[in-house]
Amino acid sequence: ERVNIVPFFHHIIDRFEMNKLETIGIDRKIPRESIFIWLDKDKITQVVDNIISNAIKYSPEGGNITFQVIKEKQRVRISISDQGLGIEREKLDKIFDRFYRVDKARSRELGGTGLGLAISKEIIDAHHGHIWASSKEGQGTTIFFTLPLTTRKRGGEK
Ligand code: ATP
Ligand code: MG
Repeated sequence: ERVNIVPFFHHIIDRFEMNKLETIGIDRKIPRESIFIWLDKDKITQVVDNIISNAIKYSPEGGNITFQVIKEKQRVRISISDQGLGIEREKLDKIFDRFYRVDKARSRELGGTGLGLAISKEIIDAHHGHIWASSKEGQGTTIFFTLPLTTRKRGGEK
């Protein structure tokens, strides 16, 4: 489905702010103009929900969450940053593996299965995008993902 991701992402964040947030606010850096992308709305909602849930779950002291959308030449890059626990450099790639959790004991208390980011990666791969993480232990984490701007070309179109 061809979706204007600007209102689409605002809507997902609105829902979070209504349901879950009391102490954490989500800063939005989202362009004003429409950006149309071919995507599966339910699946991309699942990806964003998991990343925002993680940002909240792994930020025990609260802190800001920033949701940013940057339109590049051939893709959009979405990033969700938190000021939470952070992740050691050597473990950054593993968080996209099935059932991987950085701190087993701590994670068990927080609940979850360790599948959220593995599923997110499958969904972003299926959309021909990329997903990755950057982090500083103790300072916070940013999860990035991209979605291609043009995925369908019909005959005769440039
Ligand atoms: P589930 O999403 O299935 O409920 P989960 O949140 O543990 O469980 P993932 O979302 O796949 O699983 O995340 C994998 C692991 O990566 C987490 O257990 C956590 O250790 C680490 N992690 C993910 N996001 C963050 C974050 N924003 N800050 C710190 N650690 C994170
Ligand atoms: Mg999760």
